[in-house]
Amino acid sequence: MTSSFTALEALGHEQLLLVAEPAAGYRGIIAIHSTKLGPAVGGTRVWRYDDERAALTDALRLSRGMSYKNALAGLPFGGGKSVIWDQGAVDRQALFRAHARAIESLHGRYITAEDVGTTVSDMDVMRTVTRHVAGLSSGAGDPGPFTARGVFRALLACAQHAWGSQELGGRRVAVQGVGGVGAHLARMLHEAGAVLMIADVNSERARRAAADLGAAVVSPEAIYDADVEIFAPCALGGILNDDTVPRLHAQIVVGAANNQLLENRHAEQLRERGITYGPDYVANAGGVISGAMDLAGWTREQANQRIERIYDTMLEVLVEADSLGISGAEAADRRAAALLG
Ligand code: NAD
Repeated sequence: MTSSFTALEALGHEQLLLVAEPAAGYRGIIAIHSTKLGPAVGGTRVWRYDDERAALTDALRLSRGMSYKNALAGLPFGGGKSVIWDQGAVDRQALFRAHARAIESLHGRYITAEDVGTTVSDMDVMRTVTRHVAGLSSGAGDPGPFTARGVFRALLACAQHAWGSQELGGRRVAVQGVGGVGAHLARMLHEAGAVLMIADVNSERARRAAADLGAAVVSPEAIYDADVEIFAPCALGGILNDDTVPRLHAQIVVGAANNQLLENRHAEQLRERGITYGPDYVANAGGVISGAMDLAGWTREQANQRIERIYDTMLEVLVEADSLGISGAEAADRRAAALLG
């Protein structure tokens, strides 16, 4: 047990809950990083982890990320996250009812929503057990378009910072992943006059988006070598690493994907190459901001205004980073840590 406490203290977490309901095939972890600014909000991830340690590490890392994201977005929420260790349970509804019971036991200290491996209908099932769940079919709905709008605003801030202009007409932009967020972002970029290159492992999806937007399709592996000015990662995490950073031609990297940096040092590597990196959790906060419509009673107008402000936050972070001679990622982390006290 000592190592779990050490892990908990290392990133400054408040609480870790491990719950098992063998009859439902349920093994869940709820990590609450901070409730300083409000109830800990963060989605539920379902994943086939290799072992318990991997599940625990994921929950701890993701929940701290949510604290930072929510704090910088000015939301009245703390940060938490839960993971369900996918053991191949056959009854999905029973699995999510078990998870909801675990969430209910925290009496609102943690509120969940969708993440990788979970859907709106899973949230609806949990709502029959606990009210501490967002992202319902009856609520704010799909966060993808909101997230895309926020990423677009973040991208404009990066352009302003790097080039002194927000004009995207004729700029060459690569979008990696044209799913729930990337497809909306690609459309906004197209409408702003950008020249697009698109990659998606789902080749049919890439082909369709490209046909709609007059974009070129590049293979998923070749996207890192594309001759573009902006690279927008909207697929997976860990894609900025020792292999990819040296290959990038872009002067700006900003996108929706969570945890884009494989390690923090890759932000420094981007900075050394003169690339403006817009920290992911600053850029992709639009989705959780839209959740505030369900959770904090915000109107759509209030949520939209807050999403527009991602531009200001991103610009401030980048200016601060320059003045301190550090990466944007480091500047964002310091700002979030200060807000969390
Ligand atoms: P999605 O699953 O709808 O779309 C991801 C797309 O990326 C899919 O089309 C998939 O085929 C493609 N893809 C996967 N691996 C790829 C690869 N190696 N190369 C190219 N394409 C690849 O997911 P989404 O909701 O659009 O989210 C995209 C990213 O943004 C994720 O990292 C997610 O965690 C993050 N994010 C999403 C939201 C949201 O509101 N949906 C909010 C915050 C962060």
